[in-house]
Order: sequence, then C-alpha cells, then structure tokens
Amino acid sequence: MDCIFCKIIEGSIPSKKVFENERIIAFHDIQPAAPVHILIIPKKHIPTMNDVAAEDDALVAEIFTVARQIAKEQGIDETGYRLVNNCNSEGGQVVYHLHIHLLGGKKLSTLVG
Ligand code: 5GP
Repeated sequence: MDCIFCKIIEGSIPSKKVFENERIIAFHDIQPAAPVHILIIPKKHIPTMNDVAAEDDALVAEIFTVARQIAKEQGIDETGYRLVNNCNSEGGQVVYHLHIHLLGGKKLSTLVG
C-alpha cells in the first residue's frame, strides 16, 4: 500500500517517535506548524475520519488518551494545546491515513475557515 504513514509504522521511512504501543504511534510532524507538533495515528490503516467504524471506538478513545499523555510529557497540558483532524480535501487532509495533530507550545491563532 502506498501510504507514507504505513511506511513510518513499518519503519521504512524514519520518524522522530514519541510514543508507540501495539495499536498507536506518535511522532513529530516533519513540517511543524507550532513548537510542539506531533501526529498521533492508529497502526490500522483507516483513510479518513469518515472511515472510522463502530469497532474502532476504543481505538479512537485511546488516541485521545495518548494525546493527553503526550501533551503532559511535552509540558503543554496546563498552558494549552489543540487537537486537529483534517478530513478530506476541503478539510485540508493531505495524508490519507487517520491522524490527530497535537499542536501547542505557543498561543495558537483562532481557527478560521
Ligand atoms: P494533513 O494535512 O493530512 O492533516 O496532515 C499531514 C501532516 O503530515 C502534515 O502536517 C505533514 O507535514 C505531515 N507529514 C507528511 N509527510 C510526513 C513524513 O514523511 N514524516 C512526518 N513526520 N510528517 C509528515
């Protein structure tokens, strides 16, 4: 499968990992939009948020648990952070493997369309 994040999961493309278990990995975004910019992804290839099935409920919940944990480890839990999912082209999705952006480490601008 020609998916850049699947290649990161299997290790054929290097990444700066901050978390890994059997179901999820998290790594620094290659083009950070904030001082902390980490991507949290399931190892299961789910293309978009629209493809999340009922059987993935626990996995999605765990992604948010991991995000909270990483925010704390990065020291941005108290100052604040943003979790973002871009879905499909008008949502700004570029990589079609489900991921949550964890952004923080500065005062983020208001979200605009
Ligand atoms: P999207 O726009 O799909 O929500 O975000 C995809 C993100 O993946 C972008 O922020 C982009 O910088 C990041 N990205 C794309 N290719 C790579 C890569 O090979 N390695 C890492 N670490 N991040 C990547």
